[in-house]
Amino acid sequence: MNIHEYQAKELFDRFQVPSPKGKVASTPEEAAAAAKEFEGAKLVIKAQVHAGGRGKGHFKNGFQGGVHLIESPQQASEFAGKMLNETLVTIQTGEAGKLVRKVMVAEAVDITHEYYLAILMDRGTSRPVIVASTEGGMSIEDVAHNTPEKIIRQFVHPLLGLQGYEIRKLAGALGMHGDIAKQFGKLLSNLYKLFISLDCSMVEINPLVTTPDGRVLALDAKFGFDDNALYRHPEIVAMRDKEEEDPREVAASEYELNYIGLDGNIACLVNGAGLAMATMDIIKHYGGEPANFLDVGGGASKEQVTAAFKIILADPNVKGILINIFGGIMDCNVIAEGVIAAAKETGLPIPLVVRLEGNNVEQGKATLDASGLNIVSASTMADGAQKIVAAVA
Ligand code: ADP
Ligand code: MG
Repeated sequence: MNIHEYQAKELFDRFQVPSPKGKVASTPEEAAAAAKEFEGAKLVIKAQVHAGGRGKGHFKNGFQGGVHLIESPQQASEFAGKMLNETLVTIQTGEAGKLVRKVMVAEAVDITHEYYLAILMDRGTSRPVIVASTEGGMSIEDVAHNTPEKIIRQFVHPLLGLQGYEIRKLAGALGMHGDIAKQFGKLLSNLYKLFISLDCSMVEINPLVTTPDGRVLALDAKFGFDDNALYRHPEIVAMRDKEEEDPREVAASEYELNYIGLDGNIACLVNGAGLAMATMDIIKHYGGEPANFLDVGGGASKEQVTAAFKIILADPNVKGILINIFGGIMDCNVIAEGVIAAAKETGLPIPLVVRLEGNNVEQGKATLDASGLNIVSASTMADGAQKIVAAVA
């Protein structure tokens, strides 16, 4: 799960990670009112979307940039008008872009230097890793590609936590001294607490800045949370913005289905993540392209199967469906009943190939046969894949 920059700021405030004051707005009037609150200060206005690269992005209406310096409430309203309800295209959104529904008005700070700072979970070492660079403000992928020596990594022992000497080492490597190094240490230590306490998969600050008046501040924020730990953080779940997510993935999560939309035209409905991966592989092996990854789980109910079916059919790119179920915990007949219920509701406008194996498979097959629906049955995975690839060709 991701959150917006203005929400990330609330978490920064809670964990005492310093960042400029800011306020979110959904209309030009609200933006002007927010600007009025910070009267006297220099201001920025920033589009709020779940994607980075806003500064260098452009709007489909021709307006350039999702981050702007402004000087008055009047200007806040004017810029908000150009950004709100418009589509922002950045290097991270793809061509389609993202609709801007909110903007943040924040205090603008003078910048001495821009750094990059992130904490991630490193799967290779099973440890949190702090990634930092003196080359902040730009795409970290470019820095990693062009000047890999400028990326600093510090692995953290998960039980011992972040140690003072590790912080000092990082500050030194970033060329920080004296009070700036001290402030950075405090910020990083608090950021690490935030990362662990909230079960983050990632926090990224790009840029982290130093200012001429000697402060260290987070100017931008990108968060990722471990979905499996969200039940421990209702206040984070409340920050979820479903409008920023793929509507198919939102519907799937409501039924506890693991769904990821892909670009192909063969939908798969499978139980178990491993089998789902194998099914996608075998579709590709026979020259097809999967339209999704969909794991209905080990103990899927009829309602879940019906929901899964509807999500699949809502994708206009889908030209055929392959159901591949291994009845281990699952009863094949429950799947069969779910498929029939869903097919009757939706009319089953496209070819459907079903391969069932395992627990109560004979009854499952009999239920499908008796349904009178146009379903092709397959005996093996390879058989199923070949049949669905032929059906959509
Ligand atoms: P993105 O990464 O999506 O482009 P940022 O929040 O990093 O958005 O903003 C882009 C750039 O705008 C930053 O690198 C920084 O130079 C400038 N900027 C952002 N927020 C502020 C601020 N509060 N004060 C001054 N400059 C800012
Ligand atoms: Mg940024």
